[in-house]
Amino acid sequence: QVVTRFAPSPTGYLHIGGGRTALFNWLYARGRGGKFLLRIEDTDRERSTPEATEAILQGLRWLGLDWDGDAVSQFERKDRHAEVAHLMLARGTAYKCFSTPEEIAAFRADQEAKGVSYALFQSPWRDADPATHPDAPYAIRMKAPRTGETLVEDAVQGTVRFRNDQLDDMIVLRSDGTPTYMLAVVVDDHDMGVTHVIRGDDHLNNAARQQMVYDAMGWAIPVWAHIPLIHGPDGKKLSKRHGATAVGDYQAQGYPAAGMRNYLTRLGWAHGDDEFFTSAQAMEWFDLPQIGRAPARLDFKKLENICGLHIAATDDAALLHEIEGYLAASGRPALADAQRDLLSRAMYCVKDRAKTFPELLEKAHFALTSRPVVADEASGKALDTVSRGILKSLTPRLQTASWTKDALEPILTEIAAAHGIGFGKLAAPLRAALAGRSATPSVYDMMLVIGRDETIARLEDAAG
Ligand code: GLU
Repeated sequence: QVVTRFAPSPTGYLHIGGGRTALFNWLYARGRGGKFLLRIEDTDRERSTPEATEAILQGLRWLGLDWDGDAVSQFERKDRHAEVAHLMLARGTAYKCFSTPEEIAAFRADQEAKGVSYALFQSPWRDADPATHPDAPYAIRMKAPRTGETLVEDAVQGTVRFRNDQLDDMIVLRSDGTPTYMLAVVVDDHDMGVTHVIRGDDHLNNAARQQMVYDAMGWAIPVWAHIPLIHGPDGKKLSKRHGATAVGDYQAQGYPAAGMRNYLTRLGWAHGDDEFFTSAQAMEWFDLPQIGRAPARLDFKKLENICGLHIAATDDAALLHEIEGYLAASGRPALADAQRDLLSRAMYCVKDRAKTFPELLEKAHFALTSRPVVADEASGKALDTVSRGILKSLTPRLQTASWTKDALEPILTEIAAAHGIGFGKLAAPLRAALAGRSATPSVYDMMLVIGRDETIARLEDAAG
């Protein structure tokens, strides 16, 4: 069974790159009937905070990336990590190192004086007879191979070779009994049954060292897939100056989660020319060989286009629910009951061509606003004396008309003709009166959504 995991360090918000890493792991597992696990790498007690953990969980939930079981705390597993370090000792693949920090510093200074720019510390305790061991604190170091190469077989990067004489006998358990990161990751991945490690390629070098830990314990090495980082539109490492880098910011800016998933899936992975797809399709298609080796560039225009397609394709009730989540996440006022009703009635005519929820809500302004409708500057210009008169002449006709587009259309056409103006010239003051905006759904749609009484009341307000 395939088991993947996402292993964030809770030291900040969920970065969009982290969100994509989680997404790839989720897709890979879900598409294969496997498990997707979550591990919080909270061993750095100074920098890890519960708020950061919560922000990460919240970001994953919003993206719809559900994990199996409870999130595992790496810190809480520290006794198990120490136990494995001692198992390595017993297997003879690690040793007790009694060198003090001062001795190590002196070794380095000595090497430097000899002109070695970066010297690996070679502990004198590697092959020492245990009978000579002092009764003093010790660190546990890996007995790493000194010659040959470590080959990392990576599903994305291919075979990556590391010279063993450039990798030192790294510490797995510090003299204060705390495990190092490199040990903890391997022990956790092994114990959690992780079969595939999909993560950022900034961890590729770690894979070589981690592989030595797997070997030292005689454990099976997982499939590695180190994915390139996300870059900004200019090809430079993604930073805040390009735009939002936190997953939560995209939620607060009103991007739909399905669109975000779709776009992030396409970021560095391809399935032919397919740009717009559902998560179910992505699960079916997603695989490691189609992950690109070059960093993917974030393209905000493409993100918006894909989000627009998802908004249009989402059913109205689900959309309403998601919009309410957006309002809460962005600190905007919640919908009143009447607004919610009108928005759901308006949904059919506002969800096309809206790329984000703020855009959708702007188009739905006519349904959310209430009398007296305040026209913005651009649309207000259409309400001159002549057009006010025309609106006035329209209201008696609307009193008796059937409230359907078919019945309303000839009335409006007739009124426009009677005043010698085109329909466009009539639509502008109608938009101003009904919505106070110039970019709105069709006047018929607005009239049908708000109903006869409200339409007539708004026209009378505007006619003055
Ligand atoms: N905690 C590491 C990070 O946040 C990830 C480690 C891993 O995926 O192996 O970058």
